[in-house]
Amino acid sequence: MPSPTFCIIGAGMAGGRTAISLRERGFEGRLVLIGDEPELPYERPPLSKGYLSGELPQGKLFLQPRQEYRERAIEWRPETRVSEIDRHGRTLRLANGELISFARLLLATGAQPRRLDRPGADLAGVVTYRTLADADSLRARLSGQPRVVVVGAGFLGSELAAAARRQGCPVTILELGEAFLSPLGPLIGAFCADLHRQAGVEILLRETVARFLGDSQLEAVELASGRSLPCDLALICLGVEPNSQLAVAAGLETDPGVVVDKHCQSSLEGVFAAGDVASWWSPRWDQRLRVEHYDNAHQQGLFVAGAMLGDGSVYDPLPYFWTEQYDTMVQQVGIVSSGREQVIRGDSASRSFSLFQVRDGLLKSCVAVNRFPDLAAARRLINSGAQIPPALLEDPTVDLRAWSQQLEEEAKSL
Ligand SMILES: Cc1cc2nc3c(=O)[nH]c(=O)nc-3n(C[C@H](O)[C@H](O)[C@H](O)COP(=O)(O)OP(=O)(O)OC[C@H]3O[C@@H](n4cnc5c(N)ncnc54)[C@H](O)[C@@H]3O)c2cc1C
Repeated sequence: MPSPTFCIIGAGMAGGRTAISLRERGFEGRLVLIGDEPELPYERPPLSKGYLSGELPQGKLFLQPRQEYRERAIEWRPETRVSEIDRHGRTLRLANGELISFARLLLATGAQPRRLDRPGADLAGVVTYRTLADADSLRARLSGQPRVVVVGAGFLGSELAAAARRQGCPVTILELGEAFLSPLGPLIGAFCADLHRQAGVEILLRETVARFLGDSQLEAVELASGRSLPCDLALICLGVEPNSQLAVAAGLETDPGVVVDKHCQSSLEGVFAAGDVASWWSPRWDQRLRVEHYDNAHQQGLFVAGAMLGDGSVYDPLPYFWTEQYDTMVQQVGIVSSGREQVIRGDSASRSFSLFQVRDGLLKSCVAVNRFPDLAAARRLINSGAQIPPALLEDPTVDLRAWSQQLEEEAKSL
């Protein structure tokens, strides 16, 4: 019997991890990794941090060197777009017309930045940000110290604002909502907003762009409030939309991510999804999740390799991500939600504190500001499933590490 062909659409974080992991797990069939970018799979987080500032060389971005894919017989097809999935013929059509049959398929197509549909949005200097090419272009522009407007005070917008400020650019952040970095909750969001204000960034909440002004190059933005803000560069950071167009066209269930089951398999047998594009039901959190963070792309990429080989395991991770705001590291484990009991450990004035959220006696999330040990302890406490007295979380005399290790051991021995 000929060995089966496995195809992966999207040579990003999740796709790259899956390809390598399939070989590590012993898959010997044909393995095709198709991506529309010119580069080997690379890590995006440094694009708004060390790579943008010039501290991290380009070679450090790649998941694996070219040689690794060659030696593992992974057919990497760069600058190649998949234009159609034929679900009945179990075939992919590439943009160049080539057809590739598959036995198993992974959709690891990631997500694309939302655009801002306003007059003048096509002017030079109005840009979104996702790829290595975007980073190279922004690096070159920032060295000229343009006046920068960032639209959107989320993770990407705030990190790009910090990078631009560090280059000495005048920076204004516009946020339509009430809060800075709202996914982190009001306390941490306000703390991060203060870091930006101290660095000289102007933050305008409940404000957005009415139109972009200029002849061919951006010269100013006219705000919804009527104010005109002279600028040379507008960075549109309004979140992302999952790249599920191929799945929609092939009749797979979407929500708008690609809906997958506990084994990361889509509504079409043998077709899987992982990374930013995948939406799964989490028994642990009792809700559907689609996580647009590095750790999920990494973990789900590794997991789905086993699932494609039929190992039967269940995906239900503890979500984790981090963001860097100037020299402050903010990390989150679990899922932040309103309406829970909140406990603060440490002190925001010292720039070292953590915010824990507890519901029905169970720890649900921790956002740690420059406090990795709290985060590591929180991970163990959440995994233990034990009742957590909030007063102990708050008490600086309690050794969180020892306590969480003990609870973790007890949970394992049950
Ligand atoms: C600038 C930046 C900074 C970030 N910083 C952090 C951070 O600090 N912490 C954190 O947790 N997360 C961060 N993230 C998020 C993290 O990088 C993403 O969650 C992760 O890259 C998702 O991986 P993925 O494989 O799902 O998608 P991607 O890495 O986007 O890969 C998908 C690939 O599929 C390609 N593709 C799509 N459609 C097709 C098609 N039809 N044919 C062929 N190829 C196709 C895309 O072009 C892309 O190359 C950051 C993201 C960005 C952009």
